[in-house]
Amino acid sequence: MSTTQTTSSVTGSSAAGEPLGFDPEALRAKYRLERDRRIRPDGIAQYRRTDGEFGHDADAPDPTFDRPPLRDRVEVAVIGGGFGGLLTGARLRQAGVEDIRMIEEGGDFGGAWHWNRYPGIHCDIESYVYLPLLEELGYLPEWKYAPGEEIRQHARAIGRHFDLYRDACFHTRVSELRWDEDSREWEISTNRGDHLRARYVAVASGTLSQPKLPGIPGIETFGGRTFHTSRWDYDYTGGDATGGLSKLADKRVALVGTGATAVQVVPHLGRDSRHVYVMQRTPSSVDVRGNRRTDPAWSESLRPGWQKERRDNFLAIVSGGQTDEDLVSDGWTGSAQLLRKLMPSATFSQLPPERREHVEEIVDFQKMNQLRARVDEIVQNRATAEALKPWYRYMCKRPTFSDTYLETFNRPNVTLVDTADHGGVQRITHNAVVVGEHEYEVDCIIFATGFDVGISGVLSDRLSVHGRGGVTLAQYWQDGPRTLHGFASHDFPNLFHLGPLQNARSVNFTHILDEQARHVAAVIAEARRRGARYVEPTEQAQADWVATIRTTAPDQHKFQSECTPGYLNNEGKPRSRSETYGEGPLAFHALLRQWRSAGMDDVLVDAKH
Ligand code: NDP
Repeated sequence: MSTTQTTSSVTGSSAAGEPLGFDPEALRAKYRLERDRRIRPDGIAQYRRTDGEFGHDADAPDPTFDRPPLRDRVEVAVIGGGFGGLLTGARLRQAGVEDIRMIEEGGDFGGAWHWNRYPGIHCDIESYVYLPLLEELGYLPEWKYAPGEEIRQHARAIGRHFDLYRDACFHTRVSELRWDEDSREWEISTNRGDHLRARYVAVASGTLSQPKLPGIPGIETFGGRTFHTSRWDYDYTGGDATGGLSKLADKRVALVGTGATAVQVVPHLGRDSRHVYVMQRTPSSVDVRGNRRTDPAWSESLRPGWQKERRDNFLAIVSGGQTDEDLVSDGWTGSAQLLRKLMPSATFSQLPPERREHVEEIVDFQKMNQLRARVDEIVQNRATAEALKPWYRYMCKRPTFSDTYLETFNRPNVTLVDTADHGGVQRITHNAVVVGEHEYEVDCIIFATGFDVGISGVLSDRLSVHGRGGVTLAQYWQDGPRTLHGFASHDFPNLFHLGPLQNARSVNFTHILDEQARHVAAVIAEARRRGARYVEPTEQAQADWVATIRTTAPDQHKFQSECTPGYLNNEGKPRSRSETYGEGPLAFHALLRQWRSAGMDDVLVDAKH
């Protein structure tokens, strides 16, 4: 099918009525065909958890790490030592709270950046807006897009700066939270036999913390080395996160998956392995990266308040808002119009819906045509180039950015294996990966197959939460979450959630987390000041917020149903309801500020009650 065909049909004109140079109906048909090739009846059930199999922590000081169980009490327990937890700790310290215990499953702070050390790891959100608290720590990243190790070290620096290592419990997973009405405290149980108590608990256990594996038949029978990208085995590959995987020089490697992680890993595997088979089911869109060192002249020009200004500017643009200038000016901000599908805002609300949808679709086709043309420009083998082209709307999959990924497929030792017609890798034997008629003999299989993406462990069986009267949060939310602003629920006093939950979202997740952390710290500080008995939303305030979410949440069902399957659309079976605040993050943050200045009366239960 040609994407450059000119059409004079009504659907073949732009919003301004000009010929498009492509046939939208033909593209729609191609997208449907490619989606249908990938839909699996088992949906999300095709995956399984990796618990225990890939659980080792690269930073464990000693594999037999042990400590006596704790039986003490703190004012605030923060569950999770990634950026959500660190920011909560930092903002609480700034609010004057001294008695804080950070509890983290890994051996140090960093969250996803602690566990993920794969070669090539970088953050593809600009470092000057992604890394939080840069001005507070007096730090400026070395690159526009920071390597994972720099981000991990920044997380540790936040821990030191705000004295969060004091009393921290690493290598510790919270297994249960139980509210004790008599003492008005939470009892916290852990996998290390701890029984702690805390007046307040903030849960920030992350959304990318559970690696997942495809349930490929025979996966346990493989006799070579195998691991998930989030638990990279440098003993086996040699090298480190900057590359130099010297021990792979005589190894044949299969990499399963072609998402944002694989796009960063493949150039290293291609350069250093004897042979790499990249097992692709759905190609990612791969846009220009353009990483560069921080310009000293620019860094000297920065004035106090610069990071807030830059973050606000980025958030406004990627949320579809109007700004006079684009400070970050990269692939995210350039594609911002398209991002509204993921992070909706009110910008186009004046247009009739069908018109809006038409304009968005045309812009989307144009963007994706550019990205497909980029594949043709870079990849020499025609069949490989065709297989690497993404046929779906831009925000159906998380976009990726690289200036070396597509180029890697021009190497003679790199083979792209298209598994789409087989639902992915079909079978694994003791020495091979099987797709269709072909058995690819390999020494090592690396799974770049992602994570259980969702809200923090409270909704999974990993962390059970028992509120007032013993009711569990899972029961309480069985018909969907019920919160005030996504932070707190009635009958679960003094408990705060961080992460995506009945609130607003953005690709710059650390910005969202920082606003959440400021909010939690402000509420706790006010509760302390007033000597409040509990922080707990009234049933009315909670019901009102759930109703607000229901009325503002964008209806993304049609868009997601037409998307190729992935975690963004629940593997092709989109949920009927979105739990996102539809007015977008800017409006949500303003709403929180306004609510705080109005007195917080619908969560602070005074001592006299
Ligand atoms: P993803 O979930 O995005 O990708 C998983 C990949 O595995 C997909 O390509 C999927 O194919 C493939 N796959 C799954 N099962 C099979 C199978 N049976 N056979 C063949 N292929 C299979 O995981 P990632 O680790 O790449 O990324 C996860 C998230 O981490 C990202 O979305 C992003 O939020 C974050 N991230 C952020 C980065 C950053 O720079 N900020 C960098 C890296 C990751 P299919 O698409 O067909 O399902």
